[in-house]
Amino acid sequence: MPELPEVETICNAIKHNIDSPKIDEFQIINNKLRWKINKNIPSKVNGQTIKKIYRRAKYIVFEFHNGSLIIHLGMTGKFRKIQGTYTSIKHDHFLIKMADDNIFVYNDVRKFGSIHWASDISDHFLMKNIGVEPLTDDFNNLYLKNKTTKSRMKIKNLIMDQKIIAGVGNIYASEALFLSKIRPTKIAYRLSKSMCEHLVRSIKTVLKKAVKYGGTSIKDYKTLDGNSGYFTQKLLVYGLDKCRCGEKIRNVKISGRSSFYCPKCQK
Ligand SMILES: [Zn+2]
Repeated sequence: MPELPEVETICNAIKHNIDSPKIDEFQIINNKLRWKINKNIPSKVNGQTIKKIYRRAKYIVFEFHNGSLIIHLGMTGKFRKIQGTYTSIKHDHFLIKMADDNIFVYNDVRKFGSIHWASDISDHFLMKNIGVEPLTDDFNNLYLKNKTTKSRMKIKNLIMDQKIIAGVGNIYASEALFLSKIRPTKIAYRLSKSMCEHLVRSIKTVLKKAVKYGGTSIKDYKTLDGNSGYFTQKLLVYGLDKCRCGEKIRNVKISGRSSFYCPKCQK
């Protein structure tokens, strides 16, 4: 499942692959995604110019003068870029034909992705309750300390709560907690000020590194092939058997998600 760095990378890949920002035609191929694709979308975007493409949490946003398209890749959503004539592939859901004849096709095997139109994005139900962006200055020591002070949540659940921090998923939450030497099961209010500081730093570090890796690998791809946004970053704890200290890594379920930690390195 794509997390923040993957979505950022895919977002950048789309940006770099667009020559002309004008949309000729938005075409719905199969409207069955997590939410049915609204049949009004073509009338909103056809002939319009994309002003800006950016990531917010795990969403890709295309901004126009009259509103925004909000795209989520779900579990298996991907874009491919083609030129000339569109030939359909199983699990294609919509396509965006640009004025320069590039066509971006969205394919989603498991159909957990989504696309919405919002005339005012700040008021859209998917967007209005999203927390701070972890790579901005709004996510800082004071912010995390305030959020943890009275919380009885397990710290891993807290940093994965999208209403608190946007876009931190299972892998990077595990990695950041490992770097901070904090157990994922620790109750949030038990974190000291210095633990919060360490955690803020670690979350930024793992995400920046992942974006950088994604950004690096993307340069090796000439086309947007759907896999280009993914990268294999060297993980320190997630999915591993043994810690670099030699200890066996534990895998516990927290809210149904596999959570990896080293009992020796993380307290
Ligand atoms: Zn260890």
